[in-house]
Amino acid sequence: MKTDMEALILTDQTVGDSDRLVTVLTRNKGIMRCFARGAKNMKSVNFAPTQPLSYSHLSIYAGRSSYIIDEARLITSFYNVQLDLERLALSQYMSELIIKTVPENVYSSDVLDMMLNCLHVLVNTDRSPTLIKSVFEIRLAVLTGSMPDIIYCSGCGKYESDTMFFDYINNKLICSDCFKGEGSPAVLSRGAMAALRYVVLAEPKKIFSFNISDTSLNQLADCTEKYMLSISDTKFHTLDYYKQIKAFL
Ligand SMILES: [Zn+2]
Repeated sequence: MKTDMEALILTDQTVGDSDRLVTVLTRNKGIMRCFARGAKNMKSVNFAPTQPLSYSHLSIYAGRSSYIIDEARLITSFYNVQLDLERLALSQYMSELIIKTVPENVYSSDVLDMMLNCLHVLVNTDRSPTLIKSVFEIRLAVLTGSMPDIIYCSGCGKYESDTMFFDYINNKLICSDCFKGEGSPAVLSRGAMAALRYVVLAEPKKIFSFNISDTSLNQLADCTEKYMLSISDTKFHTLDYYKQIKAFL
């Protein structure tokens, strides 16, 4: 029995001479791994729609030991992200984050739409990769059930101070009056704090509708990366690679 679904191809590997094993994010069933026979052959009609960062209609059936893509039809491709090394590296980190945080067999339409939105901004606008990375990390955390506690100071309930501290390990916000110097929390200026609250609470289509200074963006980026690494408790080799590329540019 065949099932039709929309999916974003995240990674692929070549099997044998021309078969492709792809890891995809589907709208209804979370992460899936599927074979596409002959799809590594550039003459195959399934070549383009099963490339990484292609968003495609897939017709899938369950084979004896794995899912098999019978037909694939491209909806849109973000493949030209490869024209920019830093943006390509970031897209690979975003894909690895999804593979490691989204389970199989769960409804993932909101994560898929968020990823498509971030890829669109990454490929088609000049918004900075640092900002896109930060927005992606925080929204993925929210959508996968790790909402950061960023509304009030956990000590006194204060909403604002010139500097706020986010204890990303214990998921606690601390104001400057309550912070006693313990640990190494992320430091947030008013601008960074406002941006973090905005991204956490914004409607899905408006997650990029804000401006931020370079100084505040660096604080926001530091905070969201540390929070993501803390909640996922794993290493991402694509993040190391992204940082190498950034340092080199
Ligand atoms: Zn306080």
